[in-house]
Amino acid sequence: MRPAIRFPHPLLQPPTLPDPVTNQTITSVSRESRLFKPSAEFKAQANLGSEAAYKKLYAESVNSPERFWERQAKQFLTWRKPFTQVLQWKPPHAKWFGGGTLNVAENCLDRHLGTARENKAAIIFEGEPGDIRTLTYKQLHREVCKCANALELLGLRKGDRAAIYMPMVPEAAVAMLACARLGVVHTVIFGGFSSEAIKDRINDCGARVVITADGGWRRGKIVELKDSVDRALGATPSVEHVVVLKRTGNAVTMKEGRDLWWDDLMAAAPAVHKARAHASEQPLFILYTSGSTGKPKGVLHTSAGYLLGAAMTTHYVFDIKETDIYWCTADIGWITGHSYVVYGPLSVGATVLMYEGAPNQPEPDRFWEIIDRHGVTVFYTAPTAIRAFMRWGDEFVTRHSLASLRLLGSVGEPINPEAWMWYHKMIGKKRCPIVDTWWQTETGAIMVTPLPGITPTKPGSCTRPFFGVVPKILDENGKPVSRGSGGKLFLTQPWPSMLRTLWGDDARFKEQYWSEVPGLYFAGDGARFDEDGYLWVVGRIDDVLNVSGHRIGTAEVESALVSHPSVAEAAAVGRPDELKGQALVCFVTLKGDQRASDELKEALRAHVAREIGAIARPDSLRFAAALPKTRSGKIMRRILKEIAAGGDVKGDITTLEDFNVVASLQAEE
Ligand code: ATP
Ligand code: MG
Repeated sequence: MRPAIRFPHPLLQPPTLPDPVTNQTITSVSRESRLFKPSAEFKAQANLGSEAAYKKLYAESVNSPERFWERQAKQFLTWRKPFTQVLQWKPPHAKWFGGGTLNVAENCLDRHLGTARENKAAIIFEGEPGDIRTLTYKQLHREVCKCANALELLGLRKGDRAAIYMPMVPEAAVAMLACARLGVVHTVIFGGFSSEAIKDRINDCGARVVITADGGWRRGKIVELKDSVDRALGATPSVEHVVVLKRTGNAVTMKEGRDLWWDDLMAAAPAVHKARAHASEQPLFILYTSGSTGKPKGVLHTSAGYLLGAAMTTHYVFDIKETDIYWCTADIGWITGHSYVVYGPLSVGATVLMYEGAPNQPEPDRFWEIIDRHGVTVFYTAPTAIRAFMRWGDEFVTRHSLASLRLLGSVGEPINPEAWMWYHKMIGKKRCPIVDTWWQTETGAIMVTPLPGITPTKPGSCTRPFFGVVPKILDENGKPVSRGSGGKLFLTQPWPSMLRTLWGDDARFKEQYWSEVPGLYFAGDGARFDEDGYLWVVGRIDDVLNVSGHRIGTAEVESALVSHPSVAEAAAVGRPDELKGQALVCFVTLKGDQRASDELKEALRAHVAREIGAIARPDSLRFAAALPKTRSGKIMRRILKEIAAGGDVKGDITTLEDFNVVASLQAEE
């Protein structure tokens, strides 16, 4: 049910079109007005259950940030040596918790030993073929100690870089934590990337060791990881060793002297490892961004501040309790997998569920089966997955109970309100709060989000800032925009889990994030505050549409299309147009049982006009079998823009999921 459109409709008024040159704010066309309050039951048990407590903590976090962060850092982290300076801020470079030392792996593992958590499951793993394995905190600690010893034997030392290219198996987390323990900087490369992407990343950071597997399972097939590594390694002079985990048992070529089996190394390694203390600012990992907007950037995160952000948000946003079984479906190759599969949940002693494979293997109900089988309580996934579940059909969901779930999360893209509603009804059974979390590889941890026991939610809005986060929305001239209008999203205060630089390219770091308005962090997204002060991300700033002098974010047009019962996914882009400046071109994929037709095309154009106003009626609408996406599942509008303009696809496409999608879109023209 959509809210009724109010009349007189503002967009049906006689046109007083703003001057396209001076008006640089983004016009909102969304009519979303539904509101969902957390239940009294959830609130009563929440880690933070009162609005007054949120307000008080938030006020302190922005008015006396150093006092606030000092207390949080003492509460959430275990220090070897206490820090003496909370923040040294020389914009855009921040140093947090100076003088202090700690060990990130110790914070995720050792400190839970000798407590009631010791024999609790740290990781419950389910492989795609159905194999299930549980590692308690004690067992995981042992594996990490062995792995750290093994990596040390290979000559890895603090500050060296190691690349991890693995399937979603517990050993991937073991490798990350072993690096963290040693102060070796890891760079995890998503297991779906090609040799080209592996080569670029290894060379950019100068990795000495690559940790990989023979293969991983995906949709019933083996993804031959070692083979991809081999093809990358011809052109990577920094690599001395490759460690290979046996997962799928396919034949691999092992290069004498260079390649070693994980099992052999682990069998020979002592199970005791004394962790050294590292400085707060010890680099922890480099992670390349998704590449939605261009060439991936090597984001550098350091130890204490990053871990604090991950731990604190896990505690407050996912409301983690000792008894939770927490499942974040992200691959460890993405920041979400770093912060919310590994570092955040393990640092707070949660039980993490890890699943290796595809959501539709063997059937499109695998996720729901997993939730019921393991009693998952907190579930965190992405809009792209939710839209796929919607497309596959409700019957795959309704054959499972999902009664164990108590909290749901979303991340990665703006969630279309209709996808939110489906998630709320079908998965959350109207009982589970949804936390729509806005953040980035660069921010390290969740920045804008509802708190599940407190914040009333609106479908499509990530609502309010987390502690210490001060979002500002400014126009082209750096002036605040009025409520209801969109502009560029900035963060104005430094925060502990912020990126420290781009690896090897501090100039690009300054240029990319800090030069738009000097001293403020530019997120690259367009957003608006509504009348309640809720934040809505309206799309990437580079993708903002210019329709008859109005600048409109992509998310609102796309959400209007997705609210039509025939539509599964939509992407809106601008095409240069002599008359209008830009014509609005929409690419649409349909739900399984729907057929493309000229009538449907007209119906969809009319639907958009009805939902959000005549100015947003698409000039052209194209049906597509699939949309181009990054391998993390985000729509790549920059590619669609090029296709809409009729030109070649230029720019970096190493993170594109499937080139065939682009080829067929071009062929259809
Ligand atoms: P690149 O920076 O290389 O173009 P990317 O921005 O997709 O890639 P990530 O760091 O993985 O790389 O994604 C962060 C971006 O994802 C945000 O800037 C925002 O555009 C989008 N995003 C993430 N979560 C949300 C959310 N809850 N609501 C709206 N947008 C979101
Ligand atoms: Mg980005």
